[in-house]
Amino acid sequence: MYRAIVLNKTESGVEAKLESLDEQALPEGDVTVRVAWSTLNYKDGLAITGKAPVVRHYPMVPGVDLSGTVEHSDHPRWRPGDRVILNGWGVGEAHPGGLAEKARLKGDWLVPLPEAFDLRQAMAIGTAGYTAMLCVLALARQGVRPDQGDVLVTGAGGGVGSIAVMLLAGRGYRVVASTGRSGEAAYLKGLGAAEVMDRAELSSPGKPLGKIRWAGAVDTVGSHTLANVLASTCYGGSVAACGLAQGMDLPATVAPFILRGVNLLGVDSVYTPMERRLEAWDCLARELDPERLAAATTEVALAEVIPLAERILAGQVRGRTVVDVN
Ligand code: NDP
Repeated sequence: MYRAIVLNKTESGVEAKLESLDEQALPEGDVTVRVAWSTLNYKDGLAITGKAPVVRHYPMVPGVDLSGTVEHSDHPRWRPGDRVILNGWGVGEAHPGGLAEKARLKGDWLVPLPEAFDLRQAMAIGTAGYTAMLCVLALARQGVRPDQGDVLVTGAGGGVGSIAVMLLAGRGYRVVASTGRSGEAAYLKGLGAAEVMDRAELSSPGKPLGKIRWAGAVDTVGSHTLANVLASTCYGGSVAACGLAQGMDLPATVAPFILRGVNLLGVDSVYTPMERRLEAWDCLARELDPERLAAATTEVALAEVIPLAERILAGQVRGRTVVDVN
């Protein structure tokens, strides 16, 4: 038997419970992993509360992330004892996920644990941190350099935002962190932000073009915020968009694109090809400051995850949450 959070669809919505499951209940896959740590991402909050149709079928074990040790493998790349990371690939949405003591997965989805990290740190990073790295790499690939001016991170107090602040500051950018929580200013400066701004400056409908403020940005919130960020991005600058915490809409005009050559870079972590994942994890291993990562991390037990799901959607969770599943 193994413990897992299980989501069921009921007449009143989605019901989440901590249950004991028989190993017979494990899905198809060529690698069985003894899970050590999982995490709580925004998407896991959506799945557990049922507030957005993230889960494709029920019952479902949520959790888009896990780290652990291979117990059994029919896959040529993995052997019992290997330490692995899983991010995305529809796990926790269409395939039973990481908020469980055990998981059976496709070996092709797994990434080897970088030597720089232990299994807990890998989940302190999780999908949020790996997505932040994908955003930073997308900006760099597009030619955004530290000498070109300030870079903005929106939703900076959240998981993707906190790690984006650390990574960009580590690369020498002057980072402006936008947050709705003024009480988190000292925390964000501790992660490397040079300046903290109130997200209210960005979250209401704005003009098609504004005063130039940003050489680049990592946007985790979408909606009016993303429209306003685009409107204030410099000539030829770039914005990596990965989130929708304010909304899925994008009430913008084409003005920043056709008058300033601004680049809007879409970032998806779930189906990122393996080569890019390995690049991102390699950069995380080289660049992430373990002390800053620890400062952004809170640990909870598996049983505590269900009530936290509502809180992450309400923007009340700071940084990253690792889940001790055992
Ligand atoms: P978190 O909840 O940890 O962070 C989101 C942050 O957004 C909050 O902490 C808050 O920061 C801010 N926020 C919340 N509500 C609002 C609002 N109404 N208006 C403006 N800002 C708001 O989530 P994650 O970091 O895990 O994920 C962030 C976003 O990125 C989510 O939308 C998620 O779905 C998406 N995502 C996308 C991925 C991809 O592959 N494209 C992968 C991972 C995440 P503050 O209080 O500082 O303002």
